[in-house]
Amino acid sequence: MIETVALVVAAGRGERLGGDIPKQYRRLAGQPMLARSLKAFIRHPRITGVRAIIHPDDLALYNEATADLDLLPVAFGGATRHESSQKGLESLASNPPARVLIHDASRPLIDAATIDRVLAALDLSKAAIAALPVRDTIKRHDGDATVCETIDRSSLWRAQTPQGFDYSSILVAHQQQSGNSYTDDAAVAEAGRMTVKLVLGDEDNFKITTEQDFRHAERLLAGTELRVGNGFDVHRFGPGNQVTLCGVTIPHDQGLVGHSDADAGLHALTDAILGALGEGDIGEHFPPTDPTWKGRDSSIFLQHAATILNERGGSIRHLDVTLICENPKISPHRQAMQRRVADIIGIDATQVSVKATTTEGLGFAGRSEGIAAQAVATIALF
Ligand code: MG
Repeated sequence: MIETVALVVAAGRGERLGGDIPKQYRRLAGQPMLARSLKAFIRHPRITGVRAIIHPDDLALYNEATADLDLLPVAFGGATRHESSQKGLESLASNPPARVLIHDASRPLIDAATIDRVLAALDLSKAAIAALPVRDTIKRHDGDATVCETIDRSSLWRAQTPQGFDYSSILVAHQQQSGNSYTDDAAVAEAGRMTVKLVLGDEDNFKITTEQDFRHAERLLAGTELRVGNGFDVHRFGPGNQVTLCGVTIPHDQGLVGHSDADAGLHALTDAILGALGEGDIGEHFPPTDPTWKGRDSSIFLQHAATILNERGGSIRHLDVTLICENPKISPHRQAMQRRVADIIGIDATQVSVKATTTEGLGFAGRSEGIAAQAVATIALF
């Protein structure tokens, strides 16, 4: 087997991503990002050794992140990406491999098939990199967010890593280009007049740069967690000529008594969503002792629960609420209620079910002393 060493470059400071440790040591779906990147190469049958290139200040973080991994001794990088790669390559000089793959630690979702394609191309060429054709139309702007040119994208590819090279050729190219600040190793190879082949990368093998990238990677790794929450609420009848249920006002010979508009349907739905999130109940978020909520439209409570869900990166799959009363008759208003609930949250009406039942004259609902509502919310967390 041709000896192929993987160098995983993790020497950057990751200033673009918030947090008190460099991003490559941050846990991504339970594992440090760097450990995920290293493991992809350790597991690969055609990679004979894996070495990380880190910042000297991060040695303790590195030791913690890689304690149980089978790695070559770590190497220290330099001030730039270019310098770090060069130092990594030079660290192999005393026992040079035939080929080297250089990979960014901030691409932890690298898959074996992409590594395979780079290695296969390296059998035929001294340099091969993972890349993807540009599909979006590319605009040049004039510095003031005004388009001044549309660029022909047909020949454009986005470079990813790993980038694979004949070891001695890329080492020489790096040493010749020393002091430059190329952002990838292929650019060093090109400057050294090496022929660089493109092979197909993978959309999931993106570089984690922003907080949004980080969340996207977590979603891809963690998959979807489905959760169910339930809610229950009761309001008593009192004087009045209308009731509001699931956001729809219905004429009636009584009203419902409550601090807000006493919409038991929306209150039960709000509690169901909060329950699925483990975020307490409606009374904690909107204390009845707070005059702010007096007489208010209960849609604000439901919107609040939906906002918390959105902030947690989740979405509503389905809501189901049952209104329990003898009167008023709910069925003529069911569709309007489903639409209204969907509108409040910004989901499709097909994701909302409103049903009604009586209690056969039994209990407080049967005696028309009040209305009860029970709800179930099914949510997805990513
Ligand atoms: Mg209530």
